[in-house]
Amino acid sequence: MATTTLSETEIATQKPQTTKYVYFFGDGRADGNGKMKDELGGKGAGLAEMTNAGLPVPPGFTIQTDACREYMRHGGVPQEVDRQTEEALSRLEHLQHQKLGKGDNPLLVSVRSGAKFSMPGMMDTILNLGLNDESMEALAKRSNNPRFAYDSYRRLIQMFGNVVLEIPKPAFDEVFDAKKKQKKAKLDTDLDAKALKEVIAEYKKVVKKHAKRDFPQDPHEQLVMARDAVFRSWNNDRAKHYRRINNISDDLGTAVNVQAMVFGNLGETSGTGVGFTRNPATGNKEFYGEFLMNAQGEDVVAGIRTPIHIRELEKIMPGVYRQLHEITTRLEKHYRDMQDFEFTIQEGKLYMLQTRNGKRTGRAAVRIAIQMVEEGLITKEEAIFRVEPNQLYDFLVPRLDEKEIKPENILTDKGLPASPGAAVGQIVFTANDAVEKAGHGAKKNPVILVRAETTPEDIHGMEVAAGILTSRGGMTSHAAVVTRGMGKCCVAGAGEVQVNEHTREMRVKGQVFKEGDWISLDGTTGRVIKGKLKTVEASPDDPELTKILSWAEPFRKIGVRANADIPRDAIQARAFGAEGIGLCRTEHMFFAEDRIPHMQAMIMARDEKERRAALKKLLPMQRSDFEGLFRVMDGLPVTIRTLDPPLHEFLPKREDLMVDIAILPYATAKQKKSMIGKYGRFGAKSAADLKKVLPKVLSRVEELHEFNPMLGLRGCRLGITYPEITEMQARAIFEAAVAVEKEGVKTHVEVMIPLVATLKEMQHQAAVVRRVADEVFEEKGKKVHYLVGTMIELPRAALVADEIAKEAEFFSFGTNDLTQTTFGFSRDDINKVLPTYLGGILKQDPFAVLDREGVGELVRIGIERGRKTRPKLEVGICGEHGGEPSSVEFCHQVGMDYVACSPFRVPTARLAAAQAGASEKLKVEGGRTK
Ligand code: PEP
Ligand code: MG
Repeated sequence: MATTTLSETEIATQKPQTTKYVYFFGDGRADGNGKMKDELGGKGAGLAEMTNAGLPVPPGFTIQTDACREYMRHGGVPQEVDRQTEEALSRLEHLQHQKLGKGDNPLLVSVRSGAKFSMPGMMDTILNLGLNDESMEALAKRSNNPRFAYDSYRRLIQMFGNVVLEIPKPAFDEVFDAKKKQKKAKLDTDLDAKALKEVIAEYKKVVKKHAKRDFPQDPHEQLVMARDAVFRSWNNDRAKHYRRINNISDDLGTAVNVQAMVFGNLGETSGTGVGFTRNPATGNKEFYGEFLMNAQGEDVVAGIRTPIHIRELEKIMPGVYRQLHEITTRLEKHYRDMQDFEFTIQEGKLYMLQTRNGKRTGRAAVRIAIQMVEEGLITKEEAIFRVEPNQLYDFLVPRLDEKEIKPENILTDKGLPASPGAAVGQIVFTANDAVEKAGHGAKKNPVILVRAETTPEDIHGMEVAAGILTSRGGMTSHAAVVTRGMGKCCVAGAGEVQVNEHTREMRVKGQVFKEGDWISLDGTTGRVIKGKLKTVEASPDDPELTKILSWAEPFRKIGVRANADIPRDAIQARAFGAEGIGLCRTEHMFFAEDRIPHMQAMIMARDEKERRAALKKLLPMQRSDFEGLFRVMDGLPVTIRTLDPPLHEFLPKREDLMVDIAILPYATAKQKKSMIGKYGRFGAKSAADLKKVLPKVLSRVEELHEFNPMLGLRGCRLGITYPEITEMQARAIFEAAVAVEKEGVKTHVEVMIPLVATLKEMQHQAAVVRRVADEVFEEKGKKVHYLVGTMIELPRAALVADEIAKEAEFFSFGTNDLTQTTFGFSRDDINKVLPTYLGGILKQDPFAVLDREGVGELVRIGIERGRKTRPKLEVGICGEHGGEPSSVEFCHQVGMDYVACSPFRVPTARLAAAQAGASEKLKVEGGRTK
């Protein structure tokens, strides 16, 4: 076959390929389209698509994400970006018959961020760009509305000053508030043109003072500076934080949309609003949204004025309402998904500013998906991907116990039900206080963040709070949108509540609430109730949830089990669809009040005889727990782990004991009484006993003391050191299994040995289990089928999995410990390191989302080597990752048989596993595209 080669002259004359950085849209045609979210971001792609569809969109251009990535790499953009920006600007000027910030009819533009995935309010926006001293006057004349022109200019200086010149917002607020005070103005709109002109003069001084330069009068300079500031805002703390919690890559960058301004604040025939084609909280098919007349966009989103329901627009401007309804219905049909849109009405004419797939609660996501299948808009397979697995949590969220609600304790029932569920906690008034008071890990305190309104700066406090209450803002305010995304309870716009962050007070109905007071929120109805109410569990048998899961489940290849230790949790797990117990942590059974003394006696034992005596007391208790579990699971697998934690966890703290010994000679009668209460179970029945008992307990605690208990005498090392513990547990398991089988209940027993690193350890413990099983079967005259397997929690175990599988009949990856031992991070102390590390070294908490590169690689190796020895080896996961959607996807990909997670994550794991199976089968991009 002949090949064609380019001649030298052809090569010489060929121009180097230039990147298209800027995409124009306007006049019914766009360079881009709706599919180009990677390049144009969600907003830019939507604007292009709407333009192509002939909708009324103000023209403009999108500077694509590649330019942002260049900016991040080099701290500036290639000249080509500037060239293409200028070219697009000329085209826009030509189309509009206007010049940017020049002449009698100056062109003004908005400069907005817009990434591939929506990050509401996290990045920056500048409106009214192009205004300067000259064009302000031109606009005043042209609009015949000087107040409007001056207000627009002061907004620009303020936004530009804050976003581009990085001047703190309060510097401007102080000026504005002082002016309002001076003019005795209640509302912003009460300031007249003259007052606004004075504000402008003072704002300019603020700029000069803080930025050491004048506010730029050259509109082209404004544009370049604003563009770069928007690029920089990709890496502000809020945006980084938001990306981390939403699992969005830091490498994507944002696009910048430059668009001719339309004004919603030109008087009473102008307005602006946002809306959804369906209700984002419930999923009901209703036109839903809010607007404000004579206002600019940020007034609605920031929640500064409480907006009006969109239905009211029908009364005010019926024609515009009909057009908006028609356009948005078309958009929903076009995108085949619920749309979240922004619009502006300028002097009676409607403009669409944005459309995108709307964020919604879990309940709404399920309802909308089902309705859209019924309407023939999407297929059942598509519907499966319309629900984020974590959103199913909404169906399981608690509600307030209505019986506990006394009418006189209802502080307001007029808040907006912004994000469903119930939250009960202590009031805090700032995001930082929320972080401080909420604590973490086992010491978590529920806090309710109470704010007049939230802003993106509050995101860290919102993340740790149990619930959010705001006194201003609507269903699309920042608080509402962000909490819905987080699946966190929120009551927004509770107008009867007054919040004073400075005095740290909340006033409502004549009552004053301070930091630390308890309140209860009902995010489903919008009620705020005084006190610490009880909550009731949700019912997981919701027909819509059942329906969507029934569509998804046929695609699921891997099983979903629950981690449950007691029959009550097992019942819950089955109700949520668990197909077995993947991990029963037997030590949890010993923490009960009536058991801990026997457990402590076992630990305090001086020799095997004493230990066996204590274990004998524990045997019937364990046996009855296991019987309960077997009955609930009735033939489904029940994986029971032998004792795992370091024994000192069951004893008093060494430091406490030392203090008590030191104060004992001087202790008051009251103190002694309290000590008897504390040490009674160690034999201290009277004050006289304390003197003997305390040193005895201390000496055992000292013997057991380890510098690194997590790497110490725990896991199978316990059972190897004290085989009688494993013996007792095995006996309890098999006696229980035989007993329930005799009742006609089926059993599927899996005995799991923790923290194994070598084949010999596994053989040792398996031999104990098998010997006891034979003894019990012989004694009871009945056998049950069972497996003995291991947890893979140590890198060594994964590496020698082929050896271990000679003895182990199943593997369960304990990825909590495997993450701990692979990274060398303490799972209990990671919070000390994490805040720093999440700043760039780590993308996610590896204890929450499985680290595919390192820990995941060990999992892969472990499975491969284990199955080399035992091809049918059953493999699962029981670390916390087993209920996290992206980790579940990974487990599916590496060929596990099942995942196991806490009962409340079972529906999430089921859907995540189904999505993983479906995306493979249907060859579609998975549900987790972020
Ligand atoms: C694990 O380590 O992943 C595990 C499930 O065990 P535990 O959390 O009890 O240590
Ligand atoms: Mg473990």
